[in-house]
Amino acid sequence: MTSPLVELHDDRLEPHGVRLYLKRDDLLHRDVPGNKWRKLRHNLAAATEQGHTRLLTFGGAYSNHLRAVAAAGRTFGLTTVGVVRGEEHLPLNDSLAFATARGMHLTYLDRATYRRKTEPAVLAALVDEFGPCFVIPEGGANAHGVRGCAELPGELDVDFDVVCVACGTGTTLAGVAAGLRDGGRALGFAVLRGGFLDEDVRLLQERTFGVARTNWSVDHDFHFGGYARRTPELDEFVADFTARHAVVLDRVYEAKMMYGLLSRVRAGAFAEGTRIVAVLG
Ligand SMILES: *Cc1c(COP(=O)(O)O)cnc(C)c1O
Repeated sequence: MTSPLVELHDDRLEPHGVRLYLKRDDLLHRDVPGNKWRKLRHNLAAATEQGHTRLLTFGGAYSNHLRAVAAAGRTFGLTTVGVVRGEEHLPLNDSLAFATARGMHLTYLDRATYRRKTEPAVLAALVDEFGPCFVIPEGGANAHGVRGCAELPGELDVDFDVVCVACGTGTTLAGVAAGLRDGGRALGFAVLRGGFLDEDVRLLQERTFGVARTNWSVDHDFHFGGYARRTPELDEFVADFTARHAVVLDRVYEAKMMYGLLSRVRAGAFAEGTRIVAVLG
């Protein structure tokens, strides 16, 4: 199962001699964004191998990751528990309604406890309540997730120089960079403000492969105010992109990456002849 790769013809690129391809991971799975799917694949295999029948994971109320775990659990016959940051609000929003419709049991942690969710005492209390379970970190940010994303470059059947991804936890960037052949580079666009994304990517690579790579970097200039924040300028960009290309960019991730990438191209950040793959989904 691989997603299509399509060349994008855009008159904002052509003057700079840059070629751009879209890797349509958004089409990888009907129910969940593709990169979430990539990050879960090896987690599910590990859970099954270790004899677990239940997955437990974490996310905000609008989390694509919770949706993805709920759908994946249903597909693979594993029960799922979603630990949601903050209080319960009824009726459930679309993301959480989708998760419960796929059989996910939701439980809520206040923000202070949620921040300590990786501490043994907090995890032990959850296991006490829900029984033994395979715990997947928020956003699928573990070595299994990194390994799944490292498989992406091998699916690209064109010659390319740079792969661009949007970064939340940085797991996708860590994996994609590690999966590149020599000479390839990966560029991540941060959708969150602040944080320690570069450090997180390094740590994820070290934990997964024993060593961090130096073939990637993070662009921090296009978060538009922070996670899930948007501006009229970004909305206008998305509408224009849809009109030009009939591709609807997701505002949390894809729109910020694409806006940032086109800005960098126009500013001359890429040499003439550079071939870029931008990952959607
Ligand atoms: C979750 C998500 C990302 C961010 O992935 P990380 O591995 O957490 O950095 C990027 N793009 C899309 C469409 C996503 O859903």
